[in-house]
Amino acid sequence: MRTEFKKVTCKSLINKSNIPNTQYAINPYTGCTHGCVYCYAKFMKRYTSHMEKWGEFVDIKINASEVLEKQLTSRKKYDGTVLIGSVTDAYQPVELKYKITRRVLKTLLKYQSYHQLNVSILTKSYNVIRDIDLLRNFDNCEVGVSISNLDKKFAKVFEPFASPPEKRIKALKVLKENGIRTYLFMSPVFPGFSDVQSVVEATKSYVDFVMAEALNYKCGNWRNIEYAMKRYYPKRWSDFTQLLKDNRTWIHIENRIKGECKKYELSFRGLFLHK
Ligand code: SF4
Repeated sequence: MRTEFKKVTCKSLINKSNIPNTQYAINPYTGCTHGCVYCYAKFMKRYTSHMEKWGEFVDIKINASEVLEKQLTSRKKYDGTVLIGSVTDAYQPVELKYKITRRVLKTLLKYQSYHQLNVSILTKSYNVIRDIDLLRNFDNCEVGVSISNLDKKFAKVFEPFASPPEKRIKALKVLKENGIRTYLFMSPVFPGFSDVQSVVEATKSYVDFVMAEALNYKCGNWRNIEYAMKRYYPKRWSDFTQLLKDNRTWIHIENRIKGECKKYELSFRGLFLHK
């Protein structure tokens, strides 16, 4: 698969967010090469001029840190949580070359004493550990790592180019050892597939809290999910669709995560559902 990388300029980098408990969002890239089958950021394609399919292009916001600096030095005071990578992963492979996210972090650090921002990063990439030297200098900072499942085949099918789950757990471990506040973002939870018990157990020593998100399958991604399920898990297709139709499924899953967190005295911040 060929990926189109394009350098673009942005007019605004830190933007208001509608995500619960998140006031602002920063996305250094539009497009993502992690290739998750269930990706629901596809809608972002309409804001680009790309003809390529979602997953086959990345727009690199080359002036991101300069624009951010301009915004942070305007009269406006930024107060609250800013989520880096709210739409597309800020630590996808191309970041190692362009260091846009790293420069954004440096700018946030430079102005942290003026603004009351809690910097939150959400990623599926081991590459996040590269920035520990910066992250440890923030007064308020946390890194969440998304894990849906520990199963290698599942990850290969559904998240082919993201760091494998064991590397993501390692990222949490390294971050924690370096004094960074971390959380497990159990996402997306696939009914009948996501092994809540194993994921919480594998990460329990490296996270400060847990959040979860239900599979969002009503945003133009259903055909891809269906195709992958039928091709790689044909015998489980029927159970999977039944579980998705059953209203009790998410209550059951939420209770299970809650129970696992309680077992290890971890704070559970809830399961986010998509309507
Ligand atoms: S890491 Fe996130 S943005 Fe990237 S493909 Fe996966 S779900 Fe989409």
